[in-house]
Amino acid sequence: MFTTDDIRKEFPILAQQVHGKPLVYLDNAATTQKPQCVIDAISEVYTTYNANVHRGVHHLSQVATEAMESARTTVQQFIGAEQRHEIIFTRGTTESINLVASSFGETFLKSGDEVIISALEHHSNIVPWQLLRDRIGIELRIIPLTEECSLDLEAYRRVFNERTKLVSVAHVSNVLGITNPIKEIIDIAHSHDVPVLIDGAQSTPHIKVDVKELDADFFALSGHKVYAPTGIGVLYGKEKWLEAMRPYHGGGEMIKSVRFEKTTYNELPYKFEAGTPDYTGIIALGKALEWVNSIGIEKIAAHEHALTRYAVEQLQRIEKMRIFGNPDGAAVSFLIGDIHPADIGTILDHLGIAVRTGHHCAQPLMDYLGIPGTVRASFAAYNTKEEVDILIKGIQRAVKMFG
Ligand code: PMP
Repeated sequence: MFTTDDIRKEFPILAQQVHGKPLVYLDNAATTQKPQCVIDAISEVYTTYNANVHRGVHHLSQVATEAMESARTTVQQFIGAEQRHEIIFTRGTTESINLVASSFGETFLKSGDEVIISALEHHSNIVPWQLLRDRIGIELRIIPLTEECSLDLEAYRRVFNERTKLVSVAHVSNVLGITNPIKEIIDIAHSHDVPVLIDGAQSTPHIKVDVKELDADFFALSGHKVYAPTGIGVLYGKEKWLEAMRPYHGGGEMIKSVRFEKTTYNELPYKFEAGTPDYTGIIALGKALEWVNSIGIEKIAAHEHALTRYAVEQLQRIEKMRIFGNPDGAAVSFLIGDIHPADIGTILDHLGIAVRTGHHCAQPLMDYLGIPGTVRASFAAYNTKEEVDILIKGIQRAVKMFG
């Protein structure tokens, strides 16, 4: 049985002071801090067994390869994938979505075909489809929001037609902290024989993900949002799609044989992993997921939900408070009167409190809401109720200065 105090001790960065105040880190939706075991895993690679993976007959290369491939199994089990080779390592959610847009898009889509996304997507689930639109002439269809800021499922049902070829939506909104009804979204798409890509950047750290149970066709995640290092991420894809898709990047490792006349490609997952992989990041990602498992994702989720609920209750007591959506996860976005979000963020920073302010890489959502940005507080396993109290006091101070 772990307490939040026990958990905090594993994160050396949290012990510091910022501007003379204890750090209150509430920017976890942007990136989480790393436990000592993850930091140690990186150090261990470079101090004991660093060698390029897969091609080596020598000892160190074999140890590194084994560690990397064992991390693949950890990821597979963490998200409930049926097969190891359905786990592709990428640099993060952004690269995973770009991979699908390019590779699925250029294999299966043609001019006039439609891809459905939603009004609350992160730029990384908008721009890759626009680039594909520029390249091959697809159309983008947007699921609108209801007045309560949830996805309008009735409108979603109506948007399908014979040209619809893919749905790509976020599991959890990075701005609103709401969880989309992803199973229903997938089932509706499948009833039209349309596959679904889930942007899991904000769900993986907070929700038990089971891609098989969801029947997701693709699932993208970022390691750094789930206690792993930056620069490593995952694309899960059903074997039947990955087998049929053309490769994304060309280079070493993704080939079986190369002749100037013709190249044949490697089997999955290597067909999509050109070049030297970030095996250190992969090994550290495996360690981070083991760490999450050691606490239990359900336990982490319950703790974060309780913090979010408490934060919402406390925020609602502040005059002229506007909370966007009905957050049910680990993040809450708000504005107070016409105080600029950056002003609140700056005051909070002086008090040692890290929150994110601005458009959160979701400018179309900001336009939709008719606001320039929000203040977002987002929680992780190591945050405490006391930190929420410090946040609220800090906001009250900002309101006094600017309100
Ligand atoms: N989608 C969502 C919902 C996100 O919150 C983020 C990161 N803020 C991304 C995609 C992109 O993730 P990354 O920058 O790690 O590729």
